[in-house]
Amino acid sequence: MLFGKHVNKYYLKYAVYFLVGIATLVIVDIAQTRIPKYLGQIIDDGEILINDPRELTTIVFHILLLATIMFLGRVIWRLTIFRASTGIEANIRRAMFQKAERLSTSYYHENKVGNIMNWFTSDIQEIGDFYGWGTVMIVDAIFLSVTVLISMISLNIWMTLVALIPILLIIVWGALLDRIMTKQWGLKQKEYDKLYDFAQENFTGIRVIKAFVKQNKEVLAFSKIAKDNAKATIRYQRLDVFFGNVIETILVLELVFVLSFGAMFVYMTMSGNPVVLFGQEVRLKLGQVVEFVGYIDLIVWPMIALGQIISMRSRAKGSLKRISEFLDAPEDIKNPENAVILDSPKGYIDFKSFSFAYPGNTKNSLENISFSIKAGERIGIVGKIGSGKTTLVNSLLHLYNIEKGQIFIDGVDLMDIDIASLRETIAYAPQDNFLFGDKIENNIAFSTVEVDKEKVEHAAKFADVHSNIVDFPKGYDTVTGERGVTLSGGQKQRISVARAYYKHSPILILDDCVSAVDVKTEETILNNIKEKRQGKTTILIASRVSSVRHMDKILVLDEGKLDAFGTHEELMETSALYQRMVYLQELEKETEGGR
Ligand code: ADP
Repeated sequence: MLFGKHVNKYYLKYAVYFLVGIATLVIVDIAQTRIPKYLGQIIDDGEILINDPRELTTIVFHILLLATIMFLGRVIWRLTIFRASTGIEANIRRAMFQKAERLSTSYYHENKVGNIMNWFTSDIQEIGDFYGWGTVMIVDAIFLSVTVLISMISLNIWMTLVALIPILLIIVWGALLDRIMTKQWGLKQKEYDKLYDFAQENFTGIRVIKAFVKQNKEVLAFSKIAKDNAKATIRYQRLDVFFGNVIETILVLELVFVLSFGAMFVYMTMSGNPVVLFGQEVRLKLGQVVEFVGYIDLIVWPMIALGQIISMRSRAKGSLKRISEFLDAPEDIKNPENAVILDSPKGYIDFKSFSFAYPGNTKNSLENISFSIKAGERIGIVGKIGSGKTTLVNSLLHLYNIEKGQIFIDGVDLMDIDIASLRETIAYAPQDNFLFGDKIENNIAFSTVEVDKEKVEHAAKFADVHSNIVDFPKGYDTVTGERGVTLSGGQKQRISVARAYYKHSPILILDDCVSAVDVKTEETILNNIKEKRQGKTTILIASRVSSVRHMDKILVLDEGKLDAFGTHEELMETSALYQRMVYLQELEKETEGGR
């Protein structure tokens, strides 16, 4: 069986299914073992039975009864054992998904999506297979082989000993190969992970690959990975086939052994000169040899199962190890003890000498940042790429752990605030503008369970995307993404802004969300922020200085340090960096105009 803290509980949960399944499996096994006896009897007592039709009818009736029990039993064990195994699969998958939702952003930076997908699919399948087919194999390997062995011994101990020699060979062979198979399976799985990851990344980045005309390079790289994967799979399959073939050959040898010795014992018995072994006469009838062959036929499956269960268990063990590592991965972003729920938050924010380095980085991405935002203020953040704008926002959302006493919302230390309450307080439109493959209205109303159509339209108007949406044949019912309409970068940005605005949170953060829209649309959105977000805090990260110049205050970041914080007019006086940004942008505008 397979044990581990993430699966043990399911034994109890599915105990009834397992018990009923195993009990019926045992009944079927017992029924199967009875049939050879009747076959032997028909041959040995053939002459008597021909003259006694009632006895013959009874035997046939018994065989029919056993067949019926086997049929019904097989239906029941399949329904129960596989119900339990698929149930366990579903439970593990659910636990993994819940875990995936709890894990922090940094986990996804460190682990590739391809690997994670693999754990969710093939690894869970391995475990499910083990609980399903594995259970059947274990029960048959133990119970069927024992009952058949008992029947064999009670029929003839010497013939059993003859049959046992190859069986011992199979067990030794299985144990020998177990280690090699497990190792090879691990290698094969690793190659598969690489393949999955490469394909996944390629499909996601297909536009970049095409734009750079790198299809051939990618095809070559993929061919290499596919070849390695094929090699590892072939190595594993070769071992598997070799393993299976050796077992089958041993079983054929077994039949040859049993028939030869059986024939000899019968011949000697019939010629009145039975073989004597260790002072005991070996008397055997033809029907008994037939019965013996029937048992050999029955013992074939448990022996093969015994061989397969070893590698199946190793695979399931490997999969459970990977899944357990995922389920045990530290959740670094935890709700604080005695977490503070922000009750009707106002949205004022204080940064006090805030410094931050990403996990594993020695260099600070933000250094000694101090500033305050009053409730209802509109703040623009500008700075070169990599100056720390997104990092500032990530910290505010508690996507990473920070030290206490550095950031405060409504006067409460960020690290003391209940995470759900914090993220309720802040609406965020991220830089990548990710949208789900769903209707536009569901995308905009993502923060609520019920879709408020009026509010959705209002939010779309806020982001100046309403007129685009109603132009689509299906309007707000248009499905975006893979199976739906492909939106332009600017449309995606604005739907993402609408989604954040729809939340009506006290703090709204727009991370570089107007970079792909034209100047007129940008102006509309900026006016809407001024009009519709009155009394609520709004932070706008922008790459153009023109986007933020009319904000209440502007924060200028320079290589992780706060360069200046104030109104446009103040910054034009105090910040050389800001002045240069304004100057460069005006120059750019002029050259564009000149062109
Ligand atoms: P901006 O938004 O201004 O372009 P970022 O906040 O994204 O800048 O990045 C600031 C610095 O932090 C950069 O040096 C960047 O390389 C680093 N950085 C950003 N994200 C991560 C991350 N997940 N892990 C490690 N370093 C990061």
